[in-house]
Amino acid sequence: MLSNLKPQAEDKILALMGQFRADPRQNKIDLGVGVYKDATGLTPVMRAVKAAEKQLWEAETSKSYTALAGEPAFHAAMAEMVFGANYPKDRLSALATVGGTGACRQAFELARIANPGFTIWVSNPTWPNHLSILSFLKQDHKLYRYFDSAARAVDFTAMMADLDGVKPGDVVLLHGCCHNPTGANLTLAQWSAVADLLEAKGAIPMIDLAYQGFGDGLDEDAAGTRLIAERLPEVLVAASCSKNFGIYRERTGILMVLSDPADRALTQGTLAYLNRQTYSFAPDHGARLVTMILTDPALRTEWQTELEAVRQGMLGLREQLAAELKRLSNSDRFDFIAQHRGMFSRLGATPEQVEQMRIKNGIYMVGDSRLNIAGLNAETVPILAQAVIDAGV
Ligand code: PMP
Repeated sequence: MLSNLKPQAEDKILALMGQFRADPRQNKIDLGVGVYKDATGLTPVMRAVKAAEKQLWEAETSKSYTALAGEPAFHAAMAEMVFGANYPKDRLSALATVGGTGACRQAFELARIANPGFTIWVSNPTWPNHLSILSFLKQDHKLYRYFDSAARAVDFTAMMADLDGVKPGDVVLLHGCCHNPTGANLTLAQWSAVADLLEAKGAIPMIDLAYQGFGDGLDEDAAGTRLIAERLPEVLVAASCSKNFGIYRERTGILMVLSDPADRALTQGTLAYLNRQTYSFAPDHGARLVTMILTDPALRTEWQTELEAVRQGMLGLREQLAAELKRLSNSDRFDFIAQHRGMFSRLGATPEQVEQMRIKNGIYMVGDSRLNIAGLNAETVPILAQAVIDAGV
């Protein structure tokens, strides 16, 4: 049986991580994998997470199973963070998942059960795992234009022109904030135009929210999602706690679904069924920490302070890099780096230039020239800027 297996394509980003580890150079710079790093290159456990873990260790008396769909307190805390305090409780179904990836996967599965034959529309480019999972599921998907590579900005006219082809019941996948890999995001006016279009077409928005708090702030980064939630009758939101709580390996995520209140019980039941068919219960540890942090005022303040410092740090690096590139190139063609939000920007380098920077300078970025801003620090910004200019970007 097993000799029938075929080699699977490597995940390019994970392969790059391996290459970086094997590089003996001391001064190598990792701008590849999407993990936040502080100025010393570490991915710290956040203070509030440590404190919550301590409290949990002391108070937890059982590790028996929780609920199939996860704890209601986790659902409520996350719904409040994403949709705001006045979220529509009568419209909400929720499912604790294995990270944001699990939330995406279960969202696809839910849509497939509810409406076989739909097409999902995905931004070009998008997080590669969206496409990989959709292909694995043999799910019909189409790309909509999103990014103008020359302008390094959202090509909204092209996006809307492509989405004009959406059919009733189709799902449109949008990045809630901090678009991965481009860093280029919709304005609120553009979100509103997208809402109008989806409403007119009878399409269902699916929002992947993996970086809330990394762009313009917790509420600001949820503004597009909240607008869509208010305007559209059915909405899927796949949220990840990996980045904003720094709990990547705990695998904490949630799928939230807004529906007509009349469909809520059916939706919630189907969500629980989906967990049962895949891994039964989702991991609980991270979800419990997140719930404690979001509902305990002291822990929440501590977490928000640290998250804000992380966000400000990335903004500072963006500004520093844009300024350095402006100085070296004598032009404003890299100003987009300061305007983009989140952990990533797409530099606009060719694969050859990316390769040159890896070989000559030990700078690792994804082949499409996506760079992880958080991989930089005050010392490495000028090194990267010089390498970018030397490579002729
Ligand atoms: N969506 C996007 C856009 C992402 O960038 C990521 C993480 N790279 C995820 C979802 C999933 O994150 P996780 O499964 O680690 O929570």
